[in-house]
This record gives sequence, structure tokens and C-alpha cells, in this order.
Amino acid sequence: MGAGAVRRQLGLARSSARARSGTRAARQRFGYLIVIDFEATCWRDAGRRAPEVVEFPAVLLNTSTGEIESEFHTYVQPQEHPILSEFCTELTGITQNQVDEGVPLSICLSQFLKWIKKIQMEKKIVFGADILSNSTSEAKACTFVTWTDWDLGVCLHYECKRKQLRKPDILNSWIDLKATYRVFYNRKPKGLNGALQDLGIAFTGREHSGLDDSRNTARLAWRLICDGCVLKVTKSLDEVIPKTAGYLLSKISFCLWTP
Ligand code: AMP
Ligand code: MG
Ligand code: MG
Repeated sequence: MGAGAVRRQLGLARSSARARSGTRAARQRFGYLIVIDFEATCWRDAGRRAPEVVEFPAVLLNTSTGEIESEFHTYVQPQEHPILSEFCTELTGITQNQVDEGVPLSICLSQFLKWIKKIQMEKKIVFGADILSNSTSEAKACTFVTWTDWDLGVCLHYECKRKQLRKPDILNSWIDLKATYRVFYNRKPKGLNGALQDLGIAFTGREHSGLDDSRNTARLAWRLICDGCVLKVTKSLDEVIPKTAGYLLSKISFCLWTP
């Protein structure tokens, strides 16, 4: 399939005329986006050590105005490897003191859900399946945005599994802005900073600070919206069994259980 066809299939064909006419925001499926960018324990040579979240930021972007309307931010105590490597502190700017004064991931997740509940009430935000049942009300659809699938698909996903923590269901699907960017502009970005630079936007703040990375990712998402990109979910971890597969599975289990 050609690049144009892929772009059309993903609904990413550029429509700059419409964007310029000011109707772009109304065309967005999501009235709000929550951008997340974790920082995690790391080493120059990680070996078999798995990353643990040490900074958990989230910023709420209004896709009609481009404004960040609310922020969540907390440092998280790593428990498998409680002492940060020098490499990690140099890369992220996060100090041992900051994580020591942070909270364990379980507490962080409940604080995050409290923030989610608060913004849901204040802004009439709905997620996932609730979007369909609220389609006629003034509810605003919302989903998550990350730069690559790493944050939600690897880092948090496996850390919750290792620690037997329940990961909030709303974090099971998201928009990978890097993949979206690549298809929409038809070029491979060199990191988040490179993606911004290519569009003439300077990175604000400190690279590899979770909060600054999140804010800059939100600015990039807003730029894509302004350029006419309709942002869509690119990844879902929720299992969807097609009707035919479900039918076959029921037949197979019937055969297995029939004496
Ligand atoms: P980022 O969002 O790009 O700041 O990266 C998220 C996390 O990925 C960091 O907190 C590190 O745990 C890991 N990471 C990023 N870049 C590197 C690197 N060059 N070497 C090792 N780990 C890295
Ligand atoms: Mg990142
Ligand atoms: Mg980061």
C-alpha cells in the first residue's frame, strides 16, 4: 500500500484548507487529550534491570483552544532499584532526594485517578466505552497521548504486572504521537525535540524532564491539530474478539469439553 493510501486509511490526509478555515478543532474526535511522559530508572548499561517510573506527569490539553487546562505531577519512589544511577540523574535531572520524597507507584496511581475524577467532573470528560453512551450529551471525549508506545505499552504495563498492581483500564489505549507524526508529515522524526525542530518549534524547558516532555508533546499535538490532522487512537491493549473468532472459540471449547 502506498504512503497516500496509508495516510487516507488512518484518516491522516492533510486538509490544510480546512485547517486554515478554522474548522479543524470541531473535526477532532477528542475534545481533550491527556499527554503523559514518564521518566524511569535507567543505567548506561541496564543489563536485565527493568525500568520503574520515577516521574509521573500528565497534562490536559483542550483541542479547541490549544490550552493546557490542568496538570498532574508526582515523583515516584522506585522499589526494585531504590538508588538512582548517576546516569539516570544526569539524563533526567531527577535527584535521589526527589524520589525519596516521592510516593510508591500504587499511591501515585490512586492520586492520578483522583485527578482524573476531578477533571472528569469539572470538564465533563468521558473515556473509552463511555464515549458512545454519552454521544448525545455535552460530554467531551478524551484519550491519552504519548511519544511512542513505550510509556503505556512497555514501562507502566510491565511494572504493574511485576508489582501486581491494577493498571487503570483507561490507560489501555492511546495515541502514539510519533507514529501519527511520521504518517501525517511523511517523515521520520529524530526524537521529540527533532520533531518540534522540523516544524520550527523550539523545545521549552529541559529535555528528559517528564513534565517538560509532556508539555512539549502537547504543543506538538496542538500543531498537528492546527495543520489539519484528526488525531485517532493508534494502540489498544483491550482484547477484541471478532464475532467469527468468538464463534470458533466456543465450538473448540465445546469439542474439548464433550466427553
Ligand atoms: P524520555 O521520555 O525520552 O525522557 O525517556 C523516558 C525514559 O527512557 C528515561 O527516563 C529513561 O529511563 C529512558 N531513556 C531515555 N533515553 C535513554 C538513554 N539514552 N539511555 C538509557 N535510557 C534512556
Ligand atoms: Mg518519553
Ligand atoms: Mg521524557
